[in-house]
Amino acid sequence: MTNFKPIESIIQPPPIHWVGDGFIVHGFFPEQQSLEKRMSPFFLLDYNSKFEFSPSQKQRGVGVHPHRGIETVTIAYHGKVAHHDSTGNSGVIGEGDVQWMTAGSGILHKEYHEKEFSKKGGLFQMVQLWVNLPAKYKMTQPKYQPILKNEMGNFEIPNDGGKVYVIAGEYKDVKGPASTFSPINLYNVYLKTGFSVDFNFPENYNTGFLIIEGEVNVNDSKVAKENSFILFKNSGTDIILSAEKDCTVLVMNGEAINEPLAHYGPFLMNTKEELQQAFEDYQNGLFGHLED
Ligand code: MN
Repeated sequence: MTNFKPIESIIQPPPIHWVGDGFIVHGFFPEQQSLEKRMSPFFLLDYNSKFEFSPSQKQRGVGVHPHRGIETVTIAYHGKVAHHDSTGNSGVIGEGDVQWMTAGSGILHKEYHEKEFSKKGGLFQMVQLWVNLPAKYKMTQPKYQPILKNEMGNFEIPNDGGKVYVIAGEYKDVKGPASTFSPINLYNVYLKTGFSVDFNFPENYNTGFLIIEGEVNVNDSKVAKENSFILFKNSGTDIILSAEKDCTVLVMNGEAINEPLAHYGPFLMNTKEELQQAFEDYQNGLFGHLED
């Protein structure tokens, strides 16, 4: 018998704002909706829905800034993003690829449009997720995992119905390459019109779907359109996703980190004292160095 996980709400995309001059985002949480606890361990979801950038000699983006206490996960759907950080890591990700950066004890980074993409301009669509770190890993050593689409776990939906790309965690025994500090399932689901795919998640894990493209029906009960976010209740275990139109869906699922949060700007710690320490360490140059 199917033990459906019911929909709690379908959230329409909040008004857009610019992040630097390279990202124009719907801040689904924590800005507009108090979902940072409902979606823990995911703390922030910024979504750049489809936007056409004009050609530019300047690489648009966000200049050097710090992070501590989180991981930032950037998922590209259209366009290309480049990245540099103070530990010496850099990379470029394109359609379907992911940058998984663990800020841990502290890192400086910058994120901007890749050079050739900037020159040509074009369609741009990205997600940035912040994943909280459990207290005991807040000060873990910074690291960077570039995860290309063809390195992800890949579950083929029967009869050429589409694919589930596993970025982190597991889907029907297919594992994702990202190493995480708490239990997380993160997938990109590509589903063709008329096909369905089923998920089975622990009751208590927080679950959200972002509809990147197309239109979906969930549990044969509700339809959600492109750019909306579906929040699920923490009851039941089974979800059936059907494509009303060819669709791409980002599936976020994870075990909540039930610890106090102290947030300011790019830092996410457990106490005010730790936030204060983060500022001091940043100002004292302990996050390293990165050229503008
Ligand atoms: Mn950042």
